[in-house]
Amino acid sequence: MNILNNMEKILVVASNNKNKIREIKQILGDIFTPVSLSEAGITSDPEETGKTFLENAVIKAKAAAEASGKAAIADDSGLCVFALDGEPGVYSARYACKDGEHENASDEKNNEKLIRKMEGVADRRAVFRSAVAIVWPDGKTVTAEGECPGVITHTPRGSNGFGYDPYFLVEEYGKTFAELDGSVKNVISHRAHALAALKKKLTEL
Ligand code: IMP
Repeated sequence: MNILNNMEKILVVASNNKNKIREIKQILGDIFTPVSLSEAGITSDPEETGKTFLENAVIKAKAAAEASGKAAIADDSGLCVFALDGEPGVYSARYACKDGEHENASDEKNNEKLIRKMEGVADRRAVFRSAVAIVWPDGKTVTAEGECPGVITHTPRGSNGFGYDPYFLVEEYGKTFAELDGSVKNVISHRAHALAALKKKLTEL
């Protein structure tokens, strides 16, 4: 007996990002029927006021569960650089924004800022972190986290992916996230690890 036996299968993914939705379908598609926010008819977008990835994932999943009346899943993720005391962290999408701005900055501007801050820095270690949360309309919440270690390159490499991918080298593969095939990234990424941990928890509850 586990929690999945008594559950409705629809799972609202609190994102309109096609890559994230595809990844969630790949990993959780055998136990849920994931639908996007727009398929669920939801246009509201809560402010990510959390101080941690986990807090933000729960904020987004809870808002989508309340708006849809269905179980909802959200991920919050970002890049944490050792030499920058964990920056950009929860501000990864808004790193190059000025104080008080709420819109995300472009990937190009965020990367420019990162590389400027890393000029002359010898310790290039970084980690991508992801937190995922499923929240049901009755408030029940299951969460998990995942990470993927790497180093920040000096110059961009590759054209796949998004965000900080061209500057994030996975040493084991000798390639940046942007050089790796999507099918590989989707197995080794921070989000893949968080989703796999979440699936394990769900089947054990
Ligand atoms: P959110 O999780 O959608 O709120 O955004 C996280 C931000 O972190 C993105 O806008 C990217 O800048 C960055 N990020 C998260 N995951 C990845 C990834 O897999 N590759 C590159 N950048 C990422």
